Amino acid sequence: MTEILLQRVGLALTMDDDSRELTECDIRLKGGVIAEIGAGLASAGEVIDARDCLVTPGLVNTHHHLYQTLTRAVPGGQDALLFGWLKTLYPIWARFGPDEMFTSAQVGLAELALSGCTMSSDHLYLYPNGARLDDTVAAAREVGLRFHPTRGAMSIGESDGGLPPDSLVEKEAAILEDMVRVVDAFHDASEGAMVRVGLAPCSPFSVSRELMRDTALLARDKAVMLHTHLAENDEDIAYSLEKFGCRPGQYAEDLGWTGADVWHAHCVKLDGEEIDLFARTRTGVAHCPCSNCRLGSGIAPVRAMRDAGVKVGLGVDGSASNDSGNLALEARQAMLLQRVARGADAMSAREALRIATRGGAEVLGRADCGQIAVGKRADLALWDMSGVEAAGSWDWAALLLAGPTRVHDLFVEGRAVVRGGAVVSFDLAAAVRRQNDLARRLMA
Ligand SMILES: [Zn+2]
Repeated sequence: MTEILLQRVGLALTMDDDSRELTECDIRLKGGVIAEIGAGLASAGEVIDARDCLVTPGLVNTHHHLYQTLTRAVPGGQDALLFGWLKTLYPIWARFGPDEMFTSAQVGLAELALSGCTMSSDHLYLYPNGARLDDTVAAAREVGLRFHPTRGAMSIGESDGGLPPDSLVEKEAAILEDMVRVVDAFHDASEGAMVRVGLAPCSPFSVSRELMRDTALLARDKAVMLHTHLAENDEDIAYSLEKFGCRPGQYAEDLGWTGADVWHAHCVKLDGEEIDLFARTRTGVAHCPCSNCRLGSGIAPVRAMRDAGVKVGLGVDGSASNDSGNLALEARQAMLLQRVARGADAMSAREALRIATRGGAEVLGRADCGQIAVGKRADLALWDMSGVEAAGSWDWAALLLAGPTRVHDLFVEGRAVVRGGAVVSFDLAAAVRRQNDLARRLMA
């Protein structure tokens, strides 16, 4: 396997347990892991002069709907609140098929890679016209990112009082059957796994209580993780109180949806008791600040969550509600948003970057990723600090205050995905052309 030596790294933010910041160090990547960190290291492989670079662990994206990269900036959904936004987009998504799922995942993952992301989850909860989770797994293999796809689902359509059109919902027995199929086909529990599958009914308002419970039982049986949307905005809380007679945290706890193997997206409206519940049970949160701003959902209490010991990672969320998929900008937004709510000392640039890297890896249950330490996976982002964005910076570690938001190089499992600011693992230009052709067809 290829060996790579990053030589004389300007600054490495390790995100290890001691939060070490190393200057002028060498980092040797071999066999998919970080083999050695030190000074004056020798290497049989390629040597990269990293004097001008800040090196960080790869960023981790804990919430996305990759298919939505095909429906960005759709006029009818640009200024709508969550439920109205969904109503605009459902009929468009109902026309998707395998090609749309594959190409949009390729483009979405490449966009993430360019912003420093080495590992992403995806929440795919609609399967029209023969689309399958398999389409996105194939896309991730081509791009070369570590991938945690989740088998999402919706089962309550319009005729049952739900939000999505009946054509986008599935029978619950078929959902559970396909969950078993994709876990058996793709889930890899081993250290260094490139693909791990999770189970993820779309939200408490789009599936039944029974499916939530059965999915949790199945996930425990298969030893895979659980994911869904929770407590996203005020409408969401009102719906929960009216339909279930309790707040979302209680609903989650009652149905087995808390624990170290569960992470929930958004959690903008968690109250103090729910934050304590998440901390106590080691339940994770995917914080999606841009999407929360874009949809006017509110400011998630991330400071309170972190202080209570809740595991928090970042998510760009679907590209139809962001509409960008830049994880570095997402981390900057996370930092800024806590400051709007709590003051300038509410979150440092260092802390936001830690949430974006190690925090995300912890949320996804990946102790083998998210830090620069010997034996950990060789997932690294190299940021060129010699350009205009960082010119005049006194502190490279404050990347999110002053620095590039696009990587110079990106390695996943020790393999290059981005070099010199361009994706090198597959033909991105061709994928973008296909994507635009597909989008034009959907607009017609
Ligand atoms: Zn989402």
